[in-house]
Formats: sequence, C-alpha cells, structure tokens
Amino acid sequence: MSIAQNFAEIKNKIHDRAKLIAVSKTQPPEKIQAALDTGHRLYGENRVQEAVSHWAEPRQNYPDLELHLIGPLQTNKAKDAVALFDVIQTIDRESLVDALAKEQEKQKRVLKYFIQINTGDEEQKAGVSFEEFPALLEYARSKNLDVVGLMCIPPVDEDPARHFKTLAEVAKAHGLQELSMGMSGDFEAAIEYGATYVRVGTALFGER
Ligand SMILES: *Cc1c(COP(=O)(O)O)cnc(C)c1O
Repeated sequence: MSIAQNFAEIKNKIHDRAKLIAVSKTQPPEKIQAALDTGHRLYGENRVQEAVSHWAEPRQNYPDLELHLIGPLQTNKAKDAVALFDVIQTIDRESLVDALAKEQEKQKRVLKYFIQINTGDEEQKAGVSFEEFPALLEYARSKNLDVVGLMCIPPVDEDPARHFKTLAEVAKAHGLQELSMGMSGDFEAAIEYGATYVRVGTALFGER
C-alpha cells in the first residue's frame, strides 16, 4: 500500500470524528513528502531535534502546517520546542511550565498545550499522576499557558479502554475540550471514548 492509500484508509475510518496527527518520527524525508503531497498538514514528532530536521524546511513551504510535540520535553529544549511547534502535548511538571512560559514571552509566540497524564502510573513513562494533575493545571494556567486538553499513552499490556474513559472524565471535570489518545492499534477505541486527536504513525507510514 502507498502512503496516499494509507492516509485515505485511515481517514476513512476516522470519518471526521477526530483530527489525525500523522506521527512522522524516524521517517525519511521522502515519506514525509509523500504525506505532504496527499494534502495532510497535521503532524506529530516525539523528539525536538529530529522534528527540527524534519520540519524546518517544510515550514517555509507549507504555511498551514500544524506541528505537535508528543514526546517528553527537557527544559533545556524548551527554546527550540517553542520556536518550532504549534502545540506541546507533554506538559507534566512545574519546571517545564516555567521554561515554556519564559520562552513564549521571549519569543513572543503563543502555543497551545496539553497535559500528559501517566494513566497507568508507570515508572518509566512521562506524565503527571491523576493526583497531582489538578495542581499542575492550575499552575500552568497561572503562568498563562493555554492548556486545551489532556494526553495519555496507556500501558502496552492493558486494555486501553479504561484509560481512555478515565482521561475523558477528568478532562470533562476540568473543562478541557481536547483529548489526545489512540495510536495505530487503538485509535478507533479512543474515538469511541471521545478522542478529539488520534496519533497514528505505523498505520500511515509503515513499520519504523
Ligand atoms: C510513536 C508514537 C505514536 C504513534 O504510534 P503508532 O503505534 O506507530 O501509531 C503515538 N503517540 C506517541 C506519543 C508516540 O510516541
């Protein structure tokens, strides 16, 4: 299947119920170009440096491009992240809020943000716990970050449905409109539970 066919098939399955973030991490430039050639403009990356190398140039040629950071962010990369991305989905601690607020001010740029919740309480995974989330949301708002939603990556060995459901409930309880959840293997389930953004890599670009 070609990349154009993959995009058509996945978009057909989503059927406008959620926005499709095409996850282009580790993909070669020719595959990214093939995706751009289908007209798709919404992409996700999980590392800042790689995102710069993938997208600095297309940025010049595609003014309607929208780039989301979906991987963990170190504070010392906040500068590059604010310069490149439109949306950062992985806020999970106060020190990162501070770094992003400072960079927005310096660069006179305004981004949108998601808070990542570690719904499975996994030690190796980024994200704030459910317990600490309300305080972090309040803190981010106090620093004028425009937090629009929540993001999660459920544990690989569990049924993701419970995680999607809980994330949706927490977002609703805090007046957050957007939900970034669901990947190649489970985006349809995520949409059933209210995902507004799904993040799909393999099903569009092939195995990494
Ligand atoms: C890589 C990645 C994806 C895409 O995963 P696929 O299974 O290839 O669709 C989605 N979300 C995050 C945070 C990722 O790092």
